[in-house]
Amino acid sequence: MTSPLALLGGKAVVTAAGPHFTWPPIDDTTRARVAAQLDTAISVPGRDGVVADLEDGLQEYFGVRHAITTSSGTAALHAVYWASGIRPGDEVIVPAWTFHATASPLFSLRAVPVLCETGPDGNIDPTRIEELITPRTRAIMVTHLWGRPADMSAVVRVADTHHLMVLEDGSHAHGASITGRKVGTFGLASAFSLNGPKPLSGGEGGFVLTDDDETYYRTLAFAHYNKRARNEIPGGHPLARYAVTGVGLKLRIHPLAAALAHDQLGRLDGYLAGRAEIARYLTRRLSGVPGLEVAAPPEGVVPSWYGLTATYRPDELGGLPVERFHRALIAEGATEYDRPGSTCPMNLLPLYQQPHLLFPGHPHSHRRYRGGEFPVAEHVHAHTIKLPVWHREQDLELAEQYVRAAVKISDHHKELL
Ligand SMILES: *Cc1c(COP(=O)(O)O)cnc(C)c1O
Repeated sequence: MTSPLALLGGKAVVTAAGPHFTWPPIDDTTRARVAAQLDTAISVPGRDGVVADLEDGLQEYFGVRHAITTSSGTAALHAVYWASGIRPGDEVIVPAWTFHATASPLFSLRAVPVLCETGPDGNIDPTRIEELITPRTRAIMVTHLWGRPADMSAVVRVADTHHLMVLEDGSHAHGASITGRKVGTFGLASAFSLNGPKPLSGGEGGFVLTDDDETYYRTLAFAHYNKRARNEIPGGHPLARYAVTGVGLKLRIHPLAAALAHDQLGRLDGYLAGRAEIARYLTRRLSGVPGLEVAAPPEGVVPSWYGLTATYRPDELGGLPVERFHRALIAEGATEYDRPGSTCPMNLLPLYQQPHLLFPGHPHSHRRYRGGEFPVAEHVHAHTIKLPVWHREQDLELAEQYVRAAVKISDHHKELL
């Protein structure tokens, strides 16, 4: 007897032609706005034109005093660390599991990323922070993984008790909130990516948010030397005399990327509302599927749904390995089911295990990582299966086909053993 599973020769569940998810949504208005920028300015060295429009829009959207665009999220993170005064030898506590750029710029500042275990949702476990604090600890950096807000009240409580700065990487979480307060506004400063698939996208780009004037001037000195630093750092400020050179780096956003991001910013809340609907549907349907564990966000917590994650439970499917379950999903045509790759526990990365080849003399020797040190993060990472979350009502049918693919494999898992 042949199996109905597509992996074993049966007919695939998902019939729609691919790709099933593309981001960001681009329509004729978007095209016209980016094209118009070509005729307006393709280089914006000051806080003018489309760059000012985007930064004003971000300030209003997040309710902060300063938004500073950058060439990437990585650059924004680098700027945040320098601007917040992280110095050589300082330690910054970061979640063990995030995209590495949350922490990697610390190496260039000769500062030390100190990895902290995560909870089952992948976010930093606030109960594991205190044991990592030393006299050199300066800050806690938080990622809101897959757009699900971390427990900021607990993080802020630990930080306040120990006089540490709170910093945020909101790169998955534009517009996500906790009881009405947007992530990226809980600490001294935050960094966001505007890279291709991120909830708010300019293709490439990033930005820093802060309410603190000093952090703002320092961000300008780090990322926007010459015109902007000269115009915006007040004459009497100690950094003003460095305005022409800044720190020697130039990390400006491209105006075409700013035009795209500005167009998308006006649509962001619409995207998020649509995603919330489909995420609710997927959560309800998938949480009933043996082999998959899907947790709804706590009351008052609103994710951006950069991804919807399920934790695979082999024990519920006779020990069927996650690789085989995932391969069976892909065979059903549900090609967007993904296992996280480069967004992995950072103790598995050579930069965190042996930074010395790249950073000779880096003051890191007391924090050299190995696989196996973060059992929660490593287990959840290895068992995560994630989906993009669609935002249009007409995508519900596709979402339902993806659910049916998972149900089918769960029902027929014995044929894969
Ligand atoms: C994408 C991302 C970054 C880096 O942003 P880029 O714009 O790609 O440089 C940093 N942190 C997280 C969590 C990200 O997802």
